[in-house]
Amino acid sequence: MADSSLIEYSLDADRVSAEARVAFPRLTDAQTRAVAETAKERELQDGETLWEVGDRSASLFVVIEGAVEITQPLPDRQSRVIVKHGVGGFTGDIDLLSSKAAVVAGRASGRTRVLEVCPQALKKLVVSNPVLSDVILAAFIARRRLLLSEQHGEITLIGSRYSPQLYALREFLERNSRPFSWIDVDNDAAAERLTEAFDLSFDELPAVVTSSGEVCRNPSVTGLARELGLSDIGAGEVFDMAVVGGGPAGLAAAVYGGSEGLSTIVLDAHAPGGQAATSSKIENYLGFPMGISGADLAQNALIQAEKFGVRFATPRRVARLAKDGSVYRLELDDGESIQARTVVAACGVRYRRLPAANAEQYEGRGIYFAATRMEAEYCSGDDVAIVGGGNSAGQAAVYLAASARQVYILIRSGDLQHSMSRYLINRIEGLPNVRLLAHTEIDRFDGADRLTSIRVRDNRSDEFRKLSVSGVFVFIGAVANTEWLHDVVSVDRNGFVHTGDMIDTQSLDANTWAGDEHPSAFETGTRGIFAVGDVRCGSTKRVASAVGEGSVVVQSVHRRIAEMGPARVA
Ligand SMILES: Cc1cc2nc3c(=O)[nH]c(=O)nc-3n(C[C@H](O)[C@H](O)[C@H](O)COP(=O)(O)OP(=O)(O)OC[C@H]3O[C@@H](n4cnc5c(N)ncnc54)[C@H](O)[C@@H]3O)c2cc1C
Repeated sequence: MADSSLIEYSLDADRVSAEARVAFPRLTDAQTRAVAETAKERELQDGETLWEVGDRSASLFVVIEGAVEITQPLPDRQSRVIVKHGVGGFTGDIDLLSSKAAVVAGRASGRTRVLEVCPQALKKLVVSNPVLSDVILAAFIARRRLLLSEQHGEITLIGSRYSPQLYALREFLERNSRPFSWIDVDNDAAAERLTEAFDLSFDELPAVVTSSGEVCRNPSVTGLARELGLSDIGAGEVFDMAVVGGGPAGLAAAVYGGSEGLSTIVLDAHAPGGQAATSSKIENYLGFPMGISGADLAQNALIQAEKFGVRFATPRRVARLAKDGSVYRLELDDGESIQARTVVAACGVRYRRLPAANAEQYEGRGIYFAATRMEAEYCSGDDVAIVGGGNSAGQAAVYLAASARQVYILIRSGDLQHSMSRYLINRIEGLPNVRLLAHTEIDRFDGADRLTSIRVRDNRSDEFRKLSVSGVFVFIGAVANTEWLHDVVSVDRNGFVHTGDMIDTQSLDANTWAGDEHPSAFETGTRGIFAVGDVRCGSTKRVASAVGEGSVVVQSVHRRIAEMGPARVA
């Protein structure tokens, strides 16, 4: 325990002392009075439960007498008290803004009085009161960061680090900022005890154990998301704007749309953050002189959008777009659909797979398309190879060099001069354990349960050699994620969407475009469908330009909604 007698913490004391003032502040009397205007006062008995882990409509509670204990479940069905809020302390974390399942529980400690602010009132409060908004949101973000860094959570994953299914579940939870515990059956002393306790056989792994002790054997990412309330799309609502893709462009459109009163939903096939979330450090985004990890950037933007009432649903892949009267119907790959008056395609690009033998077999167990903390941990102390000569490959090399023994960068060409920024080339040249292998291509992946080596070919001499590596990080050639749009809008031969002046006036449908009308800058040839960010033909493939386009497009969305009048659903 640390700090004052009023607010006590049991999260890692060193880290907490640095972040405590942000994560666990005490409201001033004036701030408490401001909260009281939208709150209900409640009296509680010792031990009375305020909410349980998994609740989706927990309120925020400000303590005005007594104390509230926050508890977190542990893998062995026990729980621990992580924080005790005294007078002026308040409960809650980022899930309060989005009705996601609570990751901790709260109960009164001693006779207690609290002010209860329901989720709707909380959203109004953070939008209307900037001082309280700063204190509350900063605390929410810092609390979630602390929980994530502790690697404990309301759910426990049990499985092997070499299982692609476990990798997919971990990646999904990490990228959605859901705290969880992971028991590695290959290395963890607790694994045998837990598999016995939950009666789990080897083929039932990976498994997920929830805080209530429920066990899901071989769960899918979709099932887990449903369980956690991350994929809700609402029932029957016609949104003003549906954003397809929650990368930087989609997040920016969501923040501007939400803040300007548009009812907005963001659907993402994976998780918020897009490509940016796979970057360990973005150093050229304005306003972050020390750089910012893509995950933090995405997390902050997500909270900002949720503060303005934007709904996020992941993993939700849009498979087709159709029209119902005057509104669009976005059909999802699981057969469900949503309706919206305008659609913003912010679905970006994905990296190409490697055309080498056995590649598919090792995806998630040696071949990765991101270099974040999770992948670095998998390959710690080993030799790894990075394929590609662009900035994403350079960032990955710098990041992985800190934990891997040797990092090879494999490129087909002779040098990095034309593909990578000078600052990254300089950094790489200064790292003794990073080696550039020019004119080199992967020919084959080898290993048993997991990748152990690759065979590479020198494309000048045609000579082959073997490299023992446990991880290959692929950052080559991007493909537009526009299969769902091909029948509806004009795209170039690589699938990138034409917008604004790129659209041939002759091809515009005379029923929807009158006389000299033309699509606006980020609009496609189909009225009310827009494209922003990396997926747009001719865009600059950068975080800043994606964010810029996502912010600007909302003006045109307003214009189209204004001219439409009330929605008519066929
Ligand atoms: C490793 C790495 C490092 C990078 N570093 C930098 C950097 O330092 N500086 C910089 O400026 N740029 C950097 N970039 C580039 C930058 O991240 C991109 O330009 C930016 O993310 C593009 O944003 P976007 O929103 O347009 O698309 P994306 O980030 O590609 O996001 C698109 C989103 O759409 C989702 N999606 C796709 N199809 C569907 C569908 N059918 N239904 C629902 N959802 C869908 C995807 O899951 C994804 O989340 C980096 C990229 C990578 C990969």
